Amino acid sequence: MPFSYQGKLASEEKKPATYSQSADTNLSNAVSTVDKLLQQKGNIVLSMGQDDTIGHAVQLLKDKGIGALVVASDEGELQGIISERDIVRRLADGSDGILDLPIGEIMTKDVVTCSPDDSMIKVLQIMTEGRFRHIPVVQNGMLVGLVTIGDMVNFRLKELEYESLQMKQMIVG
Ligand code: AMP
Repeated sequence: MPFSYQGKLASEEKKPATYSQSADTNLSNAVSTVDKLLQQKGNIVLSMGQDDTIGHAVQLLKDKGIGALVVASDEGELQGIISERDIVRRLADGSDGILDLPIGEIMTKDVVTCSPDDSMIKVLQIMTEGRFRHIPVVQNGMLVGLVTIGDMVNFRLKELEYESLQMKQMIVG
């Protein structure tokens, strides 16, 4: 059965970040961390067990409007990731009985993860080079979130909008 985690980040105790017209602001794409994005997005990670069927995964992907699920043990140990791309690839090899197969058969087992303290630019590079669009966030061995390349691009666009507004206000006075 699907289950979900909601981890708590150490940084949730921290004060919210403030913006200022400093060199840091101008370089915010270089210094923004995954943690900052998770504070907005939340820590819920939809997961399944590796014995769950591809049929269940397909249903959950559709119901939640997402592109990937983390595969974890009952104890929360990360075992893999399954994305719509894995299902499409498997379909190309033949669709007979595919919905009844366990997701462990087609998931990616070598999962690349990141930490909440990683800079977004570093994680974007990892995803671009690895050619995947999802990355689980792990802190002290526990899953604390999952971010997508889309989340990061959206976050950066909002930051750029905010910075441009700040600049305009500074010029106009
Ligand atoms: P995606 O672009 O995320 O839909 O995934 C493309 C392929 O990369 C699929 O085979 C996924 O199982 C795999 N994949 C997705 N995320 C990761 C990750 N963080 N680490 C390793 N492989 C991944």
